[in-house]
Amino acid sequence: MKYDLIIVGAGPSGIFTALELIRKNPRKSILLIEEGSPIEKRRCPKEKTKVCVNCKPYCHITTGFSGAGAFSDGKLSLSPEVGGDLPELIGYEYTQELINYTDNIYLEFGADTKIEGVDAKEEIKEIRRKAIEAGLKLVDCPIRHLGTEKAQDIYFKLEQHLIEKGVEIRFGTQAIDVIVENGEIKGVILTDALKKEKEETVYSDKVVISAGRKGADWLKSICVKHNISHRAGTVDIGVRVEVRNEVMERVNNILYESKLIGYPAPFKDKVRTFCQNPGGFVSQENYDGGLAVVNGHSYKDLKSNNTNLAILCSHNFSHPFNEPIKYGAKVSELLNMLGDGKILVQRYGDILDGKRTWQKELSRSNVIPTLVDAIAGDITSAMPYRTMTNILNFIEALNTVVPGFAGTETLLYAPEVKFYSNKVVLNADFETSVNNLYCLGDSSGWTRGLMMASLMGVRMGQILVNKE
Ligand SMILES: Cc1cc2nc3c(=O)[nH]c(=O)nc-3n(C[C@H](O)[C@H](O)[C@H](O)COP(=O)(O)OP(=O)(O)OC[C@H]3O[C@@H](n4cnc5c(N)ncnc54)[C@H](O)[C@@H]3O)c2cc1C
Repeated sequence: MKYDLIIVGAGPSGIFTALELIRKNPRKSILLIEEGSPIEKRRCPKEKTKVCVNCKPYCHITTGFSGAGAFSDGKLSLSPEVGGDLPELIGYEYTQELINYTDNIYLEFGADTKIEGVDAKEEIKEIRRKAIEAGLKLVDCPIRHLGTEKAQDIYFKLEQHLIEKGVEIRFGTQAIDVIVENGEIKGVILTDALKKEKEETVYSDKVVISAGRKGADWLKSICVKHNISHRAGTVDIGVRVEVRNEVMERVNNILYESKLIGYPAPFKDKVRTFCQNPGGFVSQENYDGGLAVVNGHSYKDLKSNNTNLAILCSHNFSHPFNEPIKYGAKVSELLNMLGDGKILVQRYGDILDGKRTWQKELSRSNVIPTLVDAIAGDITSAMPYRTMTNILNFIEALNTVVPGFAGTETLLYAPEVKFYSNKVVLNADFETSVNNLYCLGDSSGWTRGLMMASLMGVRMGQILVNKE
């Protein structure tokens, strides 16, 4: 079979590529390959079992139509300062233009019209004043909150729309390799994602890989095999912090999400808050090879008593070791080992007292963990000294902005690791060093969020039309 375009991965970046391309040229034959299921069939068994059953061969949280976006909180960050390095490639102002354009598509498909974090100007000034006092930078970022359940509705509508417009979506199908001849892309080799028995080759002169964080490792192996230029990026390692809503109430109401960045002593590494979920739930996602990592999300209507957010530290390496993905995986493995394959949780006060946390201590706290199968234990036994010191010093600084944040009962879950550290070398048309092979979204290492991944897809669609 020969197609006008093959897209590997039906996450936001792949979806918006197909959407924009058929809007501009409805006659195109597009094949969208997705390892997981259609969105209406994606189910995380934890809804019923309450504990993670470690689904095989893949985790339903990260795999299937709409990718890691389906069960995500659906917070669209409407600022070029948030969500990755794409502005370095296409320019800051153009990124803002594309954010507005892509945001309108989300509105067309049913997103909430309310924007968080823009109205209370005086209160925002006060939060910024406290951030400055604590040595932190408050990043301005309007947020459109879809909410986990509404995000699923929107992506379902997008799925139906693509199918109606003739995009062929092959679910349960995994791309295992690409065909490159004389520096040109020729096609993709596929297999059945469950049985992995037969192989099939599909052909196209244009291939887009948008395989997400889940596919980042696979993409790296493809880069090595086919000599596609790539470089090591940064690995972000940290914890998911959970406190009572009462502690975060003011910031939640004014900003919804506080994006704070600091460079705490003594290491002066970049440390930042990420993905804040007022009234949200801490969640677990599993990666190939069995790694369990923590995340968080929040529903539009169903609310918990807690707010969670990530605190992430960037790590760079040089010589003789420069494999950030491997480093992040090793740290996660050690933390998983101490948690018997589950996410570890420890109270902030116990860390300061130099002791592990016990399950019975959690049940008598004000802050009851929303990740019910997290294992009480000792994060400090596995987290690298540098990372742990960065996190503790950052939490102390945050306590100035949010009094009570560094409370003894504050929960720290680990590992929270972001595996987008392989960066594919791209030109401004998102083309790799192989002609007509394009890379998008989180797997490319250039984005780390829904909006940036989506707009990279939109731009990809436009580039492909312009190249005709
Ligand atoms: C729990 C959770 C909450 C989040 N909350 C937010 C949030 O509120 N706001 C925000 O901005 N971001 C959030 N994110 C991050 C956001 O979901 C991602 O940044 C975004 O989905 C990236 O889009 P993508 O298209 O690059 O990749 P993904 O969404 O990861 O999609 C990639 C797709 O490719 C498929 N795939 C991978 N390899 C192959 C292969 N070899 N063959 C076939 N298919 C393959 C995967 O199955 C997957 O469906 C969250 C993530 C998680 C996990």
